[in-house]
Amino acid sequence: MSEQSNLAAVLHGAKDLRLTKRPISAPAPGEAQVAIKATGLCGSDLHYYIHGRNGEYVLKTPMCLGHESAGIITAIGEGVTDYKVGERVAIEAGVYCGACRLCKTGRYNLCTKMRFNSSAKVFPHQDGSLQSLLNHPVTHLHKLPDSCSYEAAALVEPLSVVLHAARRAHIAAGQTVLVLGAGAVGLLALAVAKAHGATHTVVVDINEERVKFAVDEGFATSGYVLPRTPRPETSAAGLEAAKATAGDILTGYGPVDSDGFDVVMECTGVETCMQAAIHTARPGGKVVFIGMGTPNATLPISAAAFREVDLLGVFRYANTYPDALALFGSGRLPGVEKLVTTRFPLEKVNEAFEALLAGKDKDGNMIMKLMVGDY
Ligand SMILES: [Zn+2]
Ligand SMILES: [Zn+2]
Repeated sequence: MSEQSNLAAVLHGAKDLRLTKRPISAPAPGEAQVAIKATGLCGSDLHYYIHGRNGEYVLKTPMCLGHESAGIITAIGEGVTDYKVGERVAIEAGVYCGACRLCKTGRYNLCTKMRFNSSAKVFPHQDGSLQSLLNHPVTHLHKLPDSCSYEAAALVEPLSVVLHAARRAHIAAGQTVLVLGAGAVGLLALAVAKAHGATHTVVVDINEERVKFAVDEGFATSGYVLPRTPRPETSAAGLEAAKATAGDILTGYGPVDSDGFDVVMECTGVETCMQAAIHTARPGGKVVFIGMGTPNATLPISAAAFREVDLLGVFRYANTYPDALALFGSGRLPGVEKLVTTRFPLEKVNEAFEALLAGKDKDGNMIMKLMVGDY
């Protein structure tokens, strides 16, 4: 197959995102070419868009963003036998080496040779899926069940993060789960907790509209709108405030006959929430840190250590796509697609990022999850 024309949204630097027609080569051996139908945007894409960097990963050359995506196969490379043109797939964005000890022991998310679409960690950078066509190894494609829409398949990426977190925390039937942060990741965390049989699921956020959405749409059994307070002046005052907040959450929304939640999923990355998370876990409970954004947090370690509260980190996911797609296929994630509140065609990708930055669309509606794609 000869070269095809491909529309790509290429980030050249902070707030410099250019729609470019550029050729794309035929898929290499072992690859498939996928026409992208939907790509969800998330915080890391937004960071790159605003700053031209995401934390320590700085854009050195132009790169396509987007790593939460699904599409349909339009061509296959040499040697590909188990995928064919016309099949619908979710794209697992991170291509790991498969040969190192971490890869071989099932923890490929920690592979140091990982090349992740839309991440400037590696050089040359790995382009993401904000383009009309993408060549990707078929080993990192997952076929969709018939009932799974492209948007649901794109949600599998952030869903994978919380599924991995749920596995790390061993969430089990009958457990109580607190989720801090009512953004898309928080809501997916609630959905996964529920799918694992959690019976008492509480969400906390400072944004009333998001908490209301989480409860009204059935993601959480109840929700608490955290009062906005001025930033504490000292670290000690911050720790005290976090402890008081945890007390308020437990008094108002804590499980009965328990000193706290079995599992707390921290999805904000805000220091006071990370601190409160520890106090809201029951003795012997677990806290999973999903939200990023505070590289060096002061945490009340004794409140964790003396009560054997396990503190768990989460970095992306491993071996989650098949299970996540099966969850969607089996209807165990009812209503999760309601998370997708906002849609833009690829041609309007700049408007999409500006809306994401504002947190609202042009009609003033809240954005929970924004998708760019074939709309
Ligand atoms: Zn993401
Ligand atoms: Zn590896």
